[in-house]
Amino acid sequence: MCEVLIIGTVALDTIETPFGKVEKVLGGSVIYASFAASLFVRPALLSIIGKDFPHEYLALIKKRGINIEGLEIGDKTFHWEGFYEYDMGEAKTKKTELNSLEYFNVQVPEKFKDTKYVFLANIDPIKQLETVKQMNKPGFIVLDTMNFWIKHKRKALIEVIKKVDTLLLNDAEARQLFATANLVKAANAALRLGPRAIIVKKGEHGALLFTRRNHFSAPGYPLENIKDPTGCGDSFGGAFVGYLAKTKDLSEKNLRKAIIYGSVVASHNAQDFGLTRLQSIMTSDIRKRYKEFQEMRKF
Ligand code: AMP
Repeated sequence: MCEVLIIGTVALDTIETPFGKVEKVLGGSVIYASFAASLFVRPALLSIIGKDFPHEYLALIKKRGINIEGLEIGDKTFHWEGFYEYDMGEAKTKKTELNSLEYFNVQVPEKFKDTKYVFLANIDPIKQLETVKQMNKPGFIVLDTMNFWIKHKRKALIEVIKKVDTLLLNDAEARQLFATANLVKAANAALRLGPRAIIVKKGEHGALLFTRRNHFSAPGYPLENIKDPTGCGDSFGGAFVGYLAKTKDLSEKNLRKAIIYGSVVASHNAQDFGLTRLQSIMTSDIRKRYKEFQEMRKF
């Protein structure tokens, strides 16, 4: 067993923002998510890479204490190329090369099947469903996705939503998936499918939590130096589930705290390109910004 099991993509990312460009750097949803979760617990990842995957990246993942027994090796690593314009609110995809991801055959290692906290980070919803099927009754499943899968695999995605406890979406994805301009309507439609909590991420403007009874709104952190928002959604999710797994408390009060921890880690992530920031932040940075979030909410 591990504390959090995370399935998602391992990628070589080419990213361009108004502040620079990086080529074929380590990225992917499971990477950002597990680096973020590892600030709280020891996660294990489930994914596929190719023979072209640089050894130094593998060493970096292992050094971080992330378990890679569920990492398969295919022929070519998933490659994503995207760019951001000045508002940085939304990644524009230039290229998505699924490569070995297309024939990734999900095999949850026996020793991880009893893991209580599972994060289905952004990947083909069919792979997310296969993961859920292979688990022995996880206690808490969090699901993330993106426009690509909403467009290409909507039906499978709806099936996964029915099986999870918390759904993470950004505002544009919520509107796209539920075909409504109104986020409250979208969140209520999502709640009717089964999850007990829907979190709508609004980029630099924070995040909203919808449950059947309540709403909660987390502020955005006023950052003056956003360089690259790639991976903010994944690191939000990784920190959210990592904090819940660490505290083993699924009350709504603690879900709210977990959202703030998600926002803290995601805001750090945006301050530099790729994984640079997530590799260097420490628990003290997290604690400091968490306190600032508490201050921002006092009136
Ligand atoms: P985020 O900015 O949190 O939404 O996620 C950024 C990461 O998502 C990048 O590192 C990409 O490699 C990865 N990514 C891009 N497109 C996809 C896709 N279709 N499925 C899964 N991961 C993707």
